Amino acid sequence: MAEELVLTRHQGKPGLTTIEGYRKVGGYAALRRAIEMGAEAVIAEVKASGLRGRGGAAFPTGTKWGFLPQGVFPRYLAVNADESEPGCFKDRVLIEEYPHQLLEGVLIAAYALQASHAFIYIRGEYRLQREILEAATREVYAAGMAGRKILGTDWDCELIVHGGAGAYICGEETALLDSLEGRRGQPRLKPPFPAIKGLYGQPTVVNNVETLSNLPYIVTEGGAAYAALGTEGSPGTRLFCVSGHVERPGTFEVPMGRTSFRDLLGLAGGVWRGRQFKAMQPGGGSMQVLGPQHLDVPLDFKAVADAGSALGAGALVVMDETTCLVDVATRLVDFYRHESCGKCVPCREGTYFESELMHRLEEGRASREELATLADICAGMDGRCFCPLGDTATWFVMSAYRMFTQEFEDHCGAGHCPVRSRVGAAA
Ligand code: SF4
Repeated sequence: MAEELVLTRHQGKPGLTTIEGYRKVGGYAALRRAIEMGAEAVIAEVKASGLRGRGGAAFPTGTKWGFLPQGVFPRYLAVNADESEPGCFKDRVLIEEYPHQLLEGVLIAAYALQASHAFIYIRGEYRLQREILEAATREVYAAGMAGRKILGTDWDCELIVHGGAGAYICGEETALLDSLEGRRGQPRLKPPFPAIKGLYGQPTVVNNVETLSNLPYIVTEGGAAYAALGTEGSPGTRLFCVSGHVERPGTFEVPMGRTSFRDLLGLAGGVWRGRQFKAMQPGGGSMQVLGPQHLDVPLDFKAVADAGSALGAGALVVMDETTCLVDVATRLVDFYRHESCGKCVPCREGTYFESELMHRLEEGRASREELATLADICAGMDGRCFCPLGDTATWFVMSAYRMFTQEFEDHCGAGHCPVRSRVGAAA
């Protein structure tokens, strides 16, 4: 029996990027239903669904909404469309193919929270996707579902699409708020959390694109029906991006907890060119590497945590037997060095030295003692940075070092990359 889908259930139907096409599949009926139910009932359904944030932190959405202080207005909803995690492109697909599903989810959330403004913060590089969202937003306004007296009620809500300038750190919720306010995007000290003091100092909820795209289904079918699609600890379905050394990279919606990494790899056609699987990043560039022994781990928050990593932003990057893990770690460390916002010393300085050392190692110029220095640098960063970027800049490197210690040691003093030399010799 085919699995029930949520986010991609209308896949293949024509005209979904227009309001007319979306209405033909029942679009915006959930918004009307949410208004009939009332804000409290919508929040109750979201809590019953067990929906957890799909941006990486996996915090329960209904609980997050519940942190808003009673009676404090105006309130804001900020939609995190700053998808920048290496290997992650699911929000891009949701925006390109189902923009009205997202906007309906945004309006349902804004109604439940009684937000006066919903800002969709989209990454600077997503120019096409921004145009798609802006066109869809104009249609929503024309249909009387945004602005003043929405659908004949007393509820007013402005819908604003705001483009970022291409900084990875603006995916961190407080940096996103700083950027929305027109400042350089840097994380804020927490507490106070955005729910208490967020955008312009007002109560604010920040939710991810995929998280909100689930709401039309949850309102229509009920929170319990959504939860039942997955497992107790990992309710619902999830959209995973699979890339790297696979035959058919793409996005795949699967039930949480009932699908394993091996199943997901199978959906992507398996490891390409008939090669052997070597390693994977289960949650994008920030998460710890996993190996062949983890392929049967279910896509469940706890099971993946027990395996030593996390599902993060839902991006599975597959590496075949020819991959040099030192090489991959060097590229990732360069990324974090470039994206460090510079606000705190452990990250600003740590990513610099981490990168310098990884380049020496990659080129076979580092000594064994320098591997200990690398571990020292990472220990000085992990848990000591102002925001998660600095911590995660160490996770892939150190997990790869632990899992592929021999590969790291073989680089020391080799004068070249031993993996590339071996692969080249075998070819
Ligand atoms: Fe900025 Fe890095 Fe510090 Fe985060 S950890 S505040 S990105 S310097």
